[in-house]
Parts: sequence; structure tokens; C-alpha cells
Amino acid sequence: MIVSIKKGTDENQVQNLVEWLESLNLEIHRSNGQYETILGLVGDTSHVDIDLIEGLNIVNRVARISEPYKKASRKFHPDDTVIDVCGNKIGGGNFQFIAGPCSVESTEQICSIAEDIKNAGANLLRGGAFKPRTSPYAFQGMRAEGLDLLKKAREITGAPIVTEIMDLSHLPLFEDVDVIQVGARNMQNFELLKELGKTDKPILLKRGLSATMEELLMSAEYIMAGGNSKVMLCERGIRTFEHYTRNTMDISAIAMLKEKTHLPVIADPSHAAGMARMVRPLALAAVAAGADGLMIEVHNDPARALCDGPQALRPEEFAKVVKEANAIREIMTKF
Ligand code: PEP
Ligand code: MN
Repeated sequence: MIVSIKKGTDENQVQNLVEWLESLNLEIHRSNGQYETILGLVGDTSHVDIDLIEGLNIVNRVARISEPYKKASRKFHPDDTVIDVCGNKIGGGNFQFIAGPCSVESTEQICSIAEDIKNAGANLLRGGAFKPRTSPYAFQGMRAEGLDLLKKAREITGAPIVTEIMDLSHLPLFEDVDVIQVGARNMQNFELLKELGKTDKPILLKRGLSATMEELLMSAEYIMAGGNSKVMLCERGIRTFEHYTRNTMDISAIAMLKEKTHLPVIADPSHAAGMARMVRPLALAAVAAGADGLMIEVHNDPARALCDGPQALRPEEFAKVVKEANAIREIMTKF
């Protein structure tokens, strides 16, 4: 981190700042230029409040040189993290399809879709039991009963289950869930992230609607700082000025995150697109950009789905995307 001090600042004030920074266990390298004095801060600056320093009236500006996240950073952990979900590896060259309906609706629905996605090549079953809906009048999910139905579908197909937690107080209900999803709206629910950091469950952390990549990585850092390093990131589209699609799939985030972090990166083209016909092209683009997995919404009767029907693929459409995605992966590993 570099701190630029205003020209003509009283030496005592500079010294006070240097001493305070040293008390934070940082080494200070000072360089006195003609127009400004530069302080180079060496050490772990992740706990330094950049806004606090920038707010001092003797400071011109502060620039961060290294990332504020450490555990999630590839700099300190060059090798890809591989997460094992009941024998299904994700990351480090291992790719997984996570598929299923937006929400669990009935035994028949979830069990039938679970069979379909398994046959199509997905090893992990997704399905929301607790649903974050914009309208309080919309279907809120089957809640605890939905979790039981997911477990039933797992019993039948053997597919581990991925489902969203919305509130800290629900954590005991998620004990027997294989991957806990943190949705876009909860990406910065820091108390929830801290609690998940104390578990040893794999966490699928979705990018917030208007979160930067750095904010997403800082949220991952929250979970990791608590001791849980089994974090997968998920790009699910961000909110931009564009309205022809539900969100804008940030393909560049997939490639950039792979550079910045060792954590697996999953792409969710369903929520990015908001319409079924866009899911295939976005899914394939995400694979080509280096995603470690795809999470796709699949429904056996999209027209009657209680949530996100317009973006759901039918099982046969999903099966085709799996084949094409695998073909792209094959080409990518060939050259
Ligand atoms: C979901 O996966 O069903 C979901 C609600 O996603 P997001 O949090 O990305 O909107
Ligand atoms: Mn959905």
C-alpha cells in the first residue's frame, strides 16, 4: 500500500502517521520527493482501513498494491483448490454440472427432475427450498419440507444436493445438505458468511447483483477467515444498463477470477439470461472462458414452474448443453 503525503506537511504530523502505521505491524519505507512524500507500507495491510488514512487532511491519496484478500488469493496459494462433494471433484481441471429446478415444488417434481438431470450427465442436484423473491406475494419455497424432498431425491438418485440458505437461524436445518448456496442477495450478509466459515460444508457463493469481483472475493475471504476453505464462486450475471436480458453475464469475470483466485468458479447462465433460449450460448461461452462448472435451472414443465419457469431448460435441452459443453472442454484440453 502506498500513501502519498501532501507537500509542505509538518514533519511532526508525518512522524505521527508513520508511528501509528508502525504500530499496526507494518514496515514503512519513506521517500521524500519534490512534490510529495511517499510512504510505502510493507506487511499485511489487509487490516488497514484505507478510507481512514485517505480521510486524514495530510494525505493526498492511498493506493493499494496488493489485494485485500489473502486466503482467497492465488498469490498465496498458486494451486487450484479442488472441492470434493461426496466424491464429485470441482476445480483443478475437474468440471461438474449442477442442475435442477429453481425451487422444489413437490416430491414428484423434484424426484423426476433429479433422475432426468442425472441421466443427462449432471452429478449434483440443485433446488431452492427457501426462496428469495422480490415480491412477498410470490411463492416463497417449501422451506424445511423442501429440504426433506431434496434429501428424498438424493436417496433415489445418489446426487448430492445444493440448496440456498437465506438466514443464519436456519443453519441447523442445513446439517444434511451437501453444498450450501449463498444467493446473490446474501453475498454480503457478513454474519451469515462468518457462521458458514465455522462449518466444514462446501459453500457456493453467488456474486451479488452489483458486486465487484473484489467484493465477491472479500465475501469468500469472510468464509475462509473462519476456517472453511471449501468455497466455490458463482458468476450469475450482474445488473447493468442492459434490459434485453435479465442480467448481464460477466464472462470476463470468469477468466479474471480464475486469475485472481485458486477457488473454483461456477457459471450460472440461467439467472444471467432470464430466458431459456439464451442459456445454451451463455453456458458454452462460460465453459470456453474457463469455468469449473455450470449451474443450470432445469424443469420438466417450465410453463407451470412456480419460480423462474421462463429461464428453465427442459431435460432434453439440458442434455444437449451437457454434450456441447463437454465437447468444448475436450477441445480446450487438446491444444
Ligand atoms: C437461485 O439460484 O435460484 C437464485 C435465487 O439465484 P441468485 O441468488 O443468483 O438470484
Ligand atoms: Mn432461480
